[in-house]
Amino acid sequence: MRGVFTFLVGVTATANALSDYSDQKVCRFHTKNVTEVKLKLQKYQDVSTDIWTRSSQFVDVRVPANIVAELEGCEVIIGDLKDTIAQTYPSAEAQSLEKHFEEVQQLLQTQDPFSVLKGRHDIFFDQFRDLDTIYTWLDLMELTFPELVKIELVGQTYEGRDMKALHISANNQALNPEKKTIIITGGVHAREWIGVSTACYFIYELLTGYGANKRETKYLNHLDFLIVPVFNPDGYVYTWSHDRLWRKNRQQTYYPRCFGIDIDHSFDFHWTGIQDFPCSEDYSGEAPFEALESESWNNYINESKSEYTIHGYLDLHSYSQEVLYPYAYSCDALPRDLENLLELSYGLAKAIRRKSGKNYKVLSSCEDRGSDLTPGLGSGSALDYMYHHRAHWGVQLKLRDTGNHGFLLPAKYINPVGKEAYGALKYFCDFILNPEL
Ligand SMILES: [Zn+2]
Repeated sequence: MRGVFTFLVGVTATANALSDYSDQKVCRFHTKNVTEVKLKLQKYQDVSTDIWTRSSQFVDVRVPANIVAELEGCEVIIGDLKDTIAQTYPSAEAQSLEKHFEEVQQLLQTQDPFSVLKGRHDIFFDQFRDLDTIYTWLDLMELTFPELVKIELVGQTYEGRDMKALHISANNQALNPEKKTIIITGGVHAREWIGVSTACYFIYELLTGYGANKRETKYLNHLDFLIVPVFNPDGYVYTWSHDRLWRKNRQQTYYPRCFGIDIDHSFDFHWTGIQDFPCSEDYSGEAPFEALESESWNNYINESKSEYTIHGYLDLHSYSQEVLYPYAYSCDALPRDLENLLELSYGLAKAIRRKSGKNYKVLSSCEDRGSDLTPGLGSGSALDYMYHHRAHWGVQLKLRDTGNHGFLLPAKYINPVGKEAYGALKYFCDFILNPEL
């Protein structure tokens, strides 16, 4: 058993290896029109800018500090980007979980998993975790709950890393004959760390609740879960080692100096090659499924999981606090069963509000992507692809916050966000298990 931990190395991102954002700020423009903002930025083509989020009320952009004063309508929401970035990494002392993992393992030799894990404050969720630590933790979950968990290989990335899915199932064929399944993905965009930690939080709650709480027992008896906490392992590793704000994968493009395809523009549903250059943050690649992660995913769910009936798909992103329903590619495309889809979306937002009081706006993904104003901006998304081809219900959750930290949410929010999003997941499970639908 100890062998599992041999690859756990305390990787601490050193400040000097990381991209330096000390001369950058984040501006908010109070408009929903991303094209209008792009026009303002056009005359600064020789400097690096990056659109962080576009929502129904605002567009946030990272810009060099020296142009802020000239940008009409810019409200600075993050003034010290370097410091805000530094605060998202764990401190050196907080980093190593090796001792914790060993203690848990020792206790498991004499006690059942529920009593070992449930009463215990899980320090895993005190900090954001690097990929090695997350994968070790997934192994620990499999060792702890061998009856419920199987780690599956979805595929490999450009840099040769494994993309892993956790298959959670009570294997109760009598109660789940059709293999009704909910799929959850996190970390499609590398810098959205809170999506990764929230997917892990779901895993922990589902597993430790089984056999102990009525609801989790019901969920696992009647549903299978496929959870991919880190959908973009290369990009995620890169955010720890080089650039905290990296978004895409790390694939080589046709342009030698630019790496990375935006996985969320790579799926083969209304895919259109975005005009943008390979260096841009939402580069779609030259063909659908060019991103190895989306191609592997397509093979995995349609080949090894072909007999599963996927009832729900939940894609975890950040930030903006939004519940987004399909379609992303166009506001003219009406999703099927719209009335129930809206009931689901508002139900998820309400479940979150009841847990934490936080407000999540419900809107169509096309509005969030800007494809209502500029066709093509929302093409090739995971949400549209899954909703259209495999999942009866599909939603994207954009987690906290609304801009104070943006992608750089401090670790103290891991538990509160996990908790409120788990409230939404429970609503999703109940919605799917409702016999009236
Ligand atoms: Zn995202």
